[in-house]
Amino acid sequence: MEGAGPAGFREGRLYIGGAWRDADGGRTVPVVNPADGGTIGRMAQGGAAEATAAVAAAAVAFPGWAATPAPERAAALRRVAALLSERREEIAAVMTAEQGKPLAEARGEVAITADYFLWNAEEARRIYGDTIPASTAGKRLLALRQPVGVAAAITPWNFPASMLGRKLAPALAAGCTAVCKPAPATPLTACAVFACIHDAGLPPGVANLVAGPAEPIGEVFLTDPRVRKISFTGSTAVGKMLMRRAADGLKRVSLELGGHAPFLVFADADLDAAAQGVVASRFRNAGQTCICANRLYVQARAAAALQERLVAAVAALRVGRGDTPGVDVGPLIGEGAVARAEAHVADALARGARVLYGGHRLPGPGHFFEPTLIAGAPAEALVAREETFGPVIPLWSFEDEAEAVRLANGTPYGLAAYVYTRDLSRAIRVTEALEYGIVGVNDPAPTVVQAPFGGVKESGMGREGGYEGVQGFLETKYVSIGLMPS
Ligand code: NAP
Repeated sequence: MEGAGPAGFREGRLYIGGAWRDADGGRTVPVVNPADGGTIGRMAQGGAAEATAAVAAAAVAFPGWAATPAPERAAALRRVAALLSERREEIAAVMTAEQGKPLAEARGEVAITADYFLWNAEEARRIYGDTIPASTAGKRLLALRQPVGVAAAITPWNFPASMLGRKLAPALAAGCTAVCKPAPATPLTACAVFACIHDAGLPPGVANLVAGPAEPIGEVFLTDPRVRKISFTGSTAVGKMLMRRAADGLKRVSLELGGHAPFLVFADADLDAAAQGVVASRFRNAGQTCICANRLYVQARAAAALQERLVAAVAALRVGRGDTPGVDVGPLIGEGAVARAEAHVADALARGARVLYGGHRLPGPGHFFEPTLIAGAPAEALVAREETFGPVIPLWSFEDEAEAVRLANGTPYGLAAYVYTRDLSRAIRVTEALEYGIVGVNDPAPTVVQAPFGGVKESGMGREGGYEGVQGFLETKYVSIGLMPS
């Protein structure tokens, strides 16, 4: 990786104005493998000064990039996509080392990241405006779509490449320039993505990477008037704070926040598919996914049959290091995540729930927790209300459609929901009644680049992916042209 450091992705640096650089004062922090606690590399730690330098570079690059013909911007994004695809193995290995997910999942994430660049390359060429009928013969009215300006992207550690791709690719497609702050646990994957951006020959300053503590960097994003848009993926608490603070500068915000997905299984469903669906949704990425099933509701007369299938499916999961072939569930991101899973299970048990499978942390090294199935937790239990963000799924039963919908909607969150049924009319009725931004009907994995992704209620605002992704980085300029007599 040119310029990124002597040990390639293992020595991560900041990327500002088209050049790799150290933080002022040379500060670095270790990057740790959650599978064994070992240090796998170091990452440069910037702060307010480096964030300001990155915003300045993005602001200088903005007029040129915004004026670059769309086919040229598209070609640059296609080159990034090609490099991501070419380097899929290398980037997946870095991701698994610092994030923990099984290699097969990491490869899939690199592939979808490339796809975000490809999709948005195509969208760059379709940023249309409008012509509007005028009220008088002597005028012509136009609506132009123009890039908002410098965009700041803040991303979490659970999908360290694809969250970057889902923000950066539409921003650049729209003609914005960008400054990205990766999560501290997973900066080296971000460096690997930025190496593709660098090698694709994007002009200096168009995309910048600043790692370091959240507050000083976030403060620059919130207060520097050159930043016109903040796109955030992470927890609802931080999203709310950013929105409050962004209001002072009336900056545009897109928020992809937490979720608490209900997974409804009706008695008429294919129960084998439903059990596989729950496992795919809940245990992917060790349960550290914003759209993963958090609450499983099964129609009472199918509960025993589903439970039996689920216990067998969960028991078959192999837990281990993500770089070991055949492993299904890797480590959690850190001790805090294991402690939260443990606390959620303990809280449920103290309130009368019972464990159907698992329930314990696994001995170290590394941050492992058993895939866990619990039943009988009351509605006040933590697992029923808060994101566990770990491999724990609580199960309840319901009697009829109305109760299922009421239970499913009984949360401030509204990101993703799942419905398993063979009854088409029921699928439509329930889907329409669910207060969620995404519904998977007999589908545990709805995310694709061409579809709008995002939440309602406290799960956020704005959509990423699909044609709406680019719209989030555009402003409308209305132009009224008075015709002069000939
Ligand atoms: P988080 O604590 O909110 O952190 C997300 C990012 O925000 C990190 O880069 C973090 O940096 C940064 N951040 C925190 N405080 C900040 C501040 N004051 N100013 C600027 N940036 C700040 O969330 P997380 O625990 O890393 O991620 C898990 C959460 O993300 C879950 O709730 C999950 O559901 C959600 N998520 C949502 C989606 C979606 O599309 N809806 C996708 C993936 C994840 P530091 O770590 O340095 O604080």
